[in-house]
Amino acid sequence: MLRQVAEGVLIHESEFCQSNAVVVQGRAGVLLIDPGVHGDEMAALANDLGELGQPVVTGFSTHPHWDHLLWHAGLGAAPRYGTGRCAATVRVLLSDVGWKARIAQRIPPDIAEQVPLDLLGLITGLPAETARIPWDGPQVRIIEHQAHAPGHAALLIEERGVLVAGDMLSDVLIPMLDLNDTADPIEDYLAALRLLEGVAASADVLVPGHGSIGGADQVRARIDQDRAYVHALRDAGVPGDPRVGPSATFDWMSGVHERQLQQLARRTERDGTPG
Ligand SMILES: [Zn+2]
Repeated sequence: MLRQVAEGVLIHESEFCQSNAVVVQGRAGVLLIDPGVHGDEMAALANDLGELGQPVVTGFSTHPHWDHLLWHAGLGAAPRYGTGRCAATVRVLLSDVGWKARIAQRIPPDIAEQVPLDLLGLITGLPAETARIPWDGPQVRIIEHQAHAPGHAALLIEERGVLVAGDMLSDVLIPMLDLNDTADPIEDYLAALRLLEGVAASADVLVPGHGSIGGADQVRARIDQDRAYVHALRDAGVPGDPRVGPSATFDWMSGVHERQLQQLARRTERDGTPG
């Protein structure tokens, strides 16, 4: 079920929302980034890794949204990390006794029963400014930014030329801004895209959290496409974007776009400033 996208880097695409789990081979086992969504998919992944003699030695969640925080007992008890801000956000979420019910509301009802929540979010926050994931394998640079979610991290596996983008740079999802408790979500998103642009030259392979794997040309193309969308959103214009509208992979994307427009308009009314 695993597909190699670069030397020692494999992915598994979930049936849910084209989510990509990323496996990076290290010396004594693998680093597993955003393990997946369906319980049986994660179990099968654990099985495959077991057969390859590659235990999971480290886990990482790119950001504090449910579909990136899951885990399966079969994957073992390796330390799981996220950025400090990501982990702090998860801590607040899990401190509410009704957290499972709250998360369940966000999961599409047709798959809710297949998503195991027991081990959700059991991550350790890395101290702010941590440059690399602590593990015994290829160096994985943490590129933290504020855009889609608090403490969102893209990861650059430099020796392999792979950029793991989390929920940025997708060919199927439009940029979804973090509109909760953020002062300037538009500028945050544009700043994050500039940060990714700064490492684009080092990436031959792009793995988005959801959607298709891209080559080097796609890194720049998707940065440009995301920036154009954010500009259109800022200017309340109509995005000429294939991810929304008749050609969209997901028909619910136009609803996401409309909601973002409305929320930004409300903020402008409230604060008198756009964004
Ligand atoms: Zn996601």
